[in-house]
Amino acid sequence: MKKSHISVMNRSFQVLDQRRRKLLKDHETLKLKERVQGIRAYSMDHLEELLEEAARNLEENGVEVIMAGNGEEARGAILDQLEGEVLVAKSKSNTAGEILLSEHLEEEGVEVLETDLGDRIVQMHRESRPSHPIGPAAHLDLEMISRIVSDYLDKEVDCEPRSILEAVKEDILMELPNIRVGITGANSVAASDGALLMVHNEGNISMISLLDVHIILVGIDKVVSTLEDAVSVVKLETIYATGKKTPAYMNVVSSPSKTADIEQELLKDMYGARRVVVVFLDNGRRELLQEGAESLWCIGCGSCIVNCPVYSVTGPEFGYRRHLGGRGVVMSRYIEDEATCTDSGLFKCTLCGNCTRECPLEIPTSQIMELLRRECVEEGLHIQEHRVILDNIKKRGSAYRD
Ligand code: SF4
Repeated sequence: MKKSHISVMNRSFQVLDQRRRKLLKDHETLKLKERVQGIRAYSMDHLEELLEEAARNLEENGVEVIMAGNGEEARGAILDQLEGEVLVAKSKSNTAGEILLSEHLEEEGVEVLETDLGDRIVQMHRESRPSHPIGPAAHLDLEMISRIVSDYLDKEVDCEPRSILEAVKEDILMELPNIRVGITGANSVAASDGALLMVHNEGNISMISLLDVHIILVGIDKVVSTLEDAVSVVKLETIYATGKKTPAYMNVVSSPSKTADIEQELLKDMYGARRVVVVFLDNGRRELLQEGAESLWCIGCGSCIVNCPVYSVTGPEFGYRRHLGGRGVVMSRYIEDEATCTDSGLFKCTLCGNCTRECPLEIPTSQIMELLRRECVEEGLHIQEHRVILDNIKKRGSAYRD
């Protein structure tokens, strides 16, 4: 990432950090944090049964459920659901980023319209990658954004936030009537209700859920017991991610659009989606869970990268695709392999533990990194500089040459 982008990103992170600090110490937040830790621990201990329950209840509610073992299966399944469409609308989704869904769809001739403002700006830019899971354009300042949007739309957009918002919104709304299929992620899945919970501030997921087909791609780790648990999870995520107590919108999707307003006869396909398809993605998550690593407890707030000394210097190069920072490095070991984990920054981590202190779930990322380093070294995946130091120690009993 360019130096200029890094400094803008660090400034945005500082603002975010100041905004949320007071709220993080609030008694209610601390109680919620404890509750969510219990919810996530239970979910991880009972993942298979909760997943089975979620799939069963979703199907009873009329939702189509697909289980995908890896990214390729998920991408193939999603492509199959597009019914020949060549333009789809999409909301922000780290899971879609994990499997390079947009890139794959575009290779297959399907254009993807990002509907989240930050994501759309990054999509227009092409040169940069999202820098925060909730605020993907945190590395771009006003001037950069106005230039990107002006270039993309081929018209002069004033260097002023409202003008930029209006220009991007107009462009998206012009395309939307031509789109039948929407793709979103989900923040949490409630097993006993057969329902998915999505949070957003812009209203874009509400629009997508009204398209003819709504495809929801979600990691199997997002499942919790009840809708009440799911709400607790997303409330805590919102506090840590944005410094606000509640998001503007929480959408619950538990079935395709329906009504029973005429003599109690159930009729489908009113205003919302005619079909809702949920794709549950494993992609290494079961293996990670079997290894006992706590990385799947993550609720996706992005708090771990805000004060990470490595991320503050490198940006998204430290991490794996849309899983940013140290946790992303850990995920890459299970999504891909040890070599990818090494390339994602395994040996860059300072092991300072800031990410654990900042994480509402207290995920011990630095400890997991240490274990992974041992594993990678045993596989011969040293970085060259470390190899030299190791050889020096073996030969001379000192890290130095002389
Ligand atoms: S332990 Fe590693 S990943 Fe965590 S904050 Fe420190 S440098 Fe970043």
